[in-house]
Parts: sequence; structure tokens; C-alpha cells
Amino acid sequence: MAALTLDALRRTGQEFMEAVSREYYLAHAGLKAAAELQPIYDRYRAVLGPDSLELTLELFRSAEPGTEARRSARLLLEWQAESQAGRAVAALEEREIAWEAAAVVRTADGRAVPYQRVAIEIANATDRRERLALDDARAALVERELAPLRQERLQRERDFVESLGIAEGYVATFEALSGIDVRALAAQCEQFLRDTQAMWDEVLPEFVKRSLGVPVSAATRADALALLRAREFDRFFPGGVLEESVRRHVTEMGIDPTAGGRVVFDTGEREGKRSRAFCAPVRVPEEVYLVLRPHGGQSDYTTFLHELGHALHFGLTRADYPFEFRWVGDNSVTEGYAMLFDHRMEDRGWLVRYTALDKPSLPRFLRAAGFEELQFLRRYCAKLSYELQLYGGAVPWRQLPDLYADTLRTATTFKYQTSDAFVDVDPRFYAARYLRAWQLQAVLNETLTERFDEDWYRNPRAGPWMTEQLFGEGQRELATELAERVAGKPLSFAPLVRSIERLLA
Ligand SMILES: [Zn+2]
Repeated sequence: MAALTLDALRRTGQEFMEAVSREYYLAHAGLKAAAELQPIYDRYRAVLGPDSLELTLELFRSAEPGTEARRSARLLLEWQAESQAGRAVAALEEREIAWEAAAVVRTADGRAVPYQRVAIEIANATDRRERLALDDARAALVERELAPLRQERLQRERDFVESLGIAEGYVATFEALSGIDVRALAAQCEQFLRDTQAMWDEVLPEFVKRSLGVPVSAATRADALALLRAREFDRFFPGGVLEESVRRHVTEMGIDPTAGGRVVFDTGEREGKRSRAFCAPVRVPEEVYLVLRPHGGQSDYTTFLHELGHALHFGLTRADYPFEFRWVGDNSVTEGYAMLFDHRMEDRGWLVRYTALDKPSLPRFLRAAGFEELQFLRRYCAKLSYELQLYGGAVPWRQLPDLYADTLRTATTFKYQTSDAFVDVDPRFYAARYLRAWQLQAVLNETLTERFDEDWYRNPRAGPWMTEQLFGEGQRELATELAERVAGKPLSFAPLVRSIERLLA
């Protein structure tokens, strides 16, 4: 066989990514009964073979640090390491998916709920005894059946990544491949938890008492799900006008919502279509699907805005960039754009202009948004700190469940179940990408406000700037580099603290 070249790897790598992405789109949009991934992996096995890994390792080691060649090589190697680790655990993942589809949670009093619906049932349960009984039954089942599968998958993935010999241990390898200093981010998280502790202690009792009617010290993670499900504002967010309102917002900002026809809005009713909105970049930038089945309600709006941010990013990426800048890279960037859009749900002016939320409800709505934001951020800070221990290797695996429950409870006050220690994990530090995305959207919002005023979301000059300076670049840069380039600022939690303080004021 002829030696694999960089050009050939880019070409077939892109074909492989497109094939996988199209398969997911067809299955999740209800256009195909199930995703058939195995034939695709077979067809493109050379892309995920030892030759490809060796080529990208060689490119990475030989490229001069600080050069564009090194940047490309790092992105390609990170993509290879992730994909090959994914293939190494594919059989376990299939077992997990099959288990999740078939498992049933049975409570002591004879109730049976499919595992996939149980989180929704817990959030919707208005009777607290029923809610806790359901969650206890779920936790017992997870501990018996799902947790061992997840633990094995995490261990195997860690072993595979460590075996690449790029750096000492999983954490340092992740840092070398991703360009993210995950330990420095975890230190920022610790500081954020300290800085917002007093604010949290002050605001939590009000929400717990009002919605749950129990003392703060008794509240559990299951209670938190019910608390965050708050339906009181749903009537202001009807499904019928969602797409139209958001298209108006994007158009007023000076961006074609379809990105010149490249973003396809798949909003029709179809059996088998997922109920949550999602974005499927099938060819970047030429063919991107934004799939939605509008139900209405606050969370439907948030999800749609989030996915729209992804869709515009992929649909407006420069076509002349190499595969690795368009398809891979630091997902903190695309998640940051998605969050920049979904955070309009915390923007007073945006809410007034594009939704039916009435003026008298606005202060209560914004205060609830501030509480939710703080809860989610504190939870993610704790998750990252815990996941760093999980991947770090210094704590024996059998001690992780207690560490998980302690860490999450300390940050959020809610009692967590130890059985979720291997299930409530974002593999490969995806929590770090979300946390950086949160920071990035806050910096971008401040920059957009400085440049285009508070109502930048309807300033016709803002969209072209975003297309040129942000979306066009794909994910060539790290989120930190992007923030420095467009805002002259490092990523930090400072602007997030400021915005939460404003919301809670
Ligand atoms: Zn996202």
C-alpha cells in the first residue's frame, strides 16, 4: 500500500465525517429507522487505522511549536485520538445504548417507567414522595446495571489515551492534544465557587421554599430537577411562532438565517423525529440541518436558539479552510456561539422584542434565569473538579462515588446519589468545553455591546461582523485565542458573575 499522505488523510477523513454525520441526521430526523454506523466504520477503516495515527503523531512531533503547521497537526492528532478511542469502546457504547432503550425503572409500589423517560417523570412529579421514590428506584437500577458498563468504558478510554505516549497520564495528554489547560480552568472554577458562595446561599432558600416547600438541607438532585422544570412561563413561549420570531431576530442582525441556503430548517412534523432540536452539519459549510419539532415552552426556545448558533457557525465557516479547521478543533468555540444565542433568553431587550413575555412577568423571569444560570455554573464547576479526579488516577475508582456525591453537594447544596458517579460524567472533559463556552459567550456579548450597543442582536452591522470575525474562522483557534483576538481579553468567570448579579438584583 502506498504511504498515506496528509492530503489523502484530509480527503478521506472529511468523507468519513460527512458519512457519519449524515447517518446521524437521517436517523434522528426520522428519515431512517436506525443509524447504521458499522458499515461506515468498515468502509473508512483506513481513516481510523494505525497508519493514520502514526502519520498524525509524526506530523505533531515534527512541527515547530507556535506554527500553523503545528496547529493543524495538533487538531488532526486530537481528532485521531478521539475517534480511535471511540472505536475502541464502540461495542461497549452499543451495549449502553441498547440498555438505555430497553431498561425499565420499577418502584416499590409497582410503578414502571422506561429509563429514558425517568428524568422527565422525576422533574414533572408534583408529589415529593413519589419523586424521591422514583429517583431511588432509578439510582438502584443504575448502580446495578449501567454504572459498571460506564465505568468500564471510562477506564478503557483512559487506558487507550494514555497508551498513545504523548504525555504522562490522561490529564496531561488531554491538555497537550486539546490545547486546554484543564487544571488552570479547574482552579478558576474553585475561585468561582468561593466568589459566588454568599450569593448562592442567599438566593437558594427563596427558590427551594417557594417551589418545593422543604428546607434547603433536605433538597435532593431530584428536587432540583423539579425546581428547574418551572413551567410558570411556558405560556409566553408558544411553539407556533418560535421559528418566525428567531428568523426575524437573525435577519434584523444582518444575517440570512439560511446562510445563503446552506442551513436547512427541517421543522415539519415527522414520525421518529427527535423531540429536542438539534443541528447536523453534514457538509461544512455547504449542508447543515437545523432540525426542530416545535412544542413550545421556555426550554424549546432555549434549545432552538442554541442549535441555531451551531448551525450559523457551520453554515458560515470559510469553505477554503482545510478539513481540520472546518470539522474539528476546540468545541468550546461552537458551544460558545450556541450559548451566545441561547443566552438571549436572559436578555431583557431581546425578550421584549421577540417573545410574548409580558412586562409584569419580566422581573420574575429574569431573576429565575439568574438562579438557573448560577445553579448550572456551580454544578459544572463541581463536575470538572470531580472529573479531573476521575481521570487523574490518584483516587481509587471505588472511592469515586463518595467523592462525586460530596463534590456536587458542596457546590450545589443538593444531595446527589453516589450511583451516578460514572453516569453523570461528560467524557473527555466536555465539561471544560462548556465552561469555556460560557466564558466565551459572556466576553462576546460584552464585545458586541461595546461595538454595536445593547441591542446588537438587531443591529444590521453586527451580523456581518460576526460572520467575518467569528463564524468564518471555523474552529481554527482555541476559545482563548479567539477571545484575545476579538476582545483583547482572557477568558474568565468575571463577566458571568457580573451578569448573574444583574439578573438577581
Ligand atoms: Zn451545543
